[in-house]
Amino acid sequence: MMHYTGPTFRPPYEQNSLLLQVTSGCSHNACTFCSMYDEVPFRVSPIEEVEHDLAFVGRGRTLFKRVFLVNGDAFCLSYDRLMEIAELVHRYLPRVESIGGYASIGNVLAKSEQQLRELTQAGFADFNIGLESGLDDVLAFMNKGYTLAQAREALARLNAAGMPFNLNIITAAAGRGRCLEHAAANAAIVNEADPTLVFVSPLHVDPGARLEQLVADGAFEECTLGDYITEEIEFLKRLDVTDCVFFGLHVSNPVRVSGILPRDKDYLVGELEFGMTRFPQWQLDSVPAKGAEGRMVD
Ligand code: SF4
Repeated sequence: MMHYTGPTFRPPYEQNSLLLQVTSGCSHNACTFCSMYDEVPFRVSPIEEVEHDLAFVGRGRTLFKRVFLVNGDAFCLSYDRLMEIAELVHRYLPRVESIGGYASIGNVLAKSEQQLRELTQAGFADFNIGLESGLDDVLAFMNKGYTLAQAREALARLNAAGMPFNLNIITAAAGRGRCLEHAAANAAIVNEADPTLVFVSPLHVDPGARLEQLVADGAFEECTLGDYITEEIEFLKRLDVTDCVFFGLHVSNPVRVSGILPRDKDYLVGELEFGMTRFPQWQLDSVPAKGAEGRMVD
């Protein structure tokens, strides 16, 4: 049996990856909108546990080509521990070509450019980095634990080290009335970072998260469904990246699109604009009801 503690999350495009637990919970566990790991104390898995799980999987006729380290920010592990894990992955699963996981900006900043280069050579690639926003005040409000300047430094370091990465952007995270400003700021930092993939999904206020109370108190005004889509369109139009997957297929995306940039930009903008016409005006003008995620415009 594999070790999994509490809820385990992965991005939708990691569905074919082996989920290998190397930590439990999240070392930050303080983002304003997130309650995913509230019930799970942060813990680093003993290396014996990791080796046990890899040996368990390795005994089968496994075809895994990629390992996705879980949980919330597995890249918080030290350089030494990550190298140890890479050695075990390649020993027990020799077909594995790359190792990823969730990473925060802080996790990246804790490693030198040389360490990142060596981690890349050991097979680490395409970590999913929850950048979320290109606006300093939004990062502070969401309690992400870093500034925009630090994010730019971390992403530049990854590029200098040759480690490809994915970026998460949360549309509507700046709140009502700021969608165009947020779209422009997000596009600016994504263009500068030039990731392999950009994962766009709307702000989701987790039940029990601090943001839930802030919304109830009127300290944060959520965007409407129309704002979500408008911001995504504006963000997409402003993107100027070299070879990047645009991934907007999360269950929370009101109109689901995915393609390769820059090739598919006009097509994706058209799909979003068309998708928006499929909603009645009253719905576009409303804040999506909780639990309404998953409706898809077909
Ligand atoms: S959003 Fe990510 S980094 Fe923030 S608390 Fe949740 S799991 Fe941790």
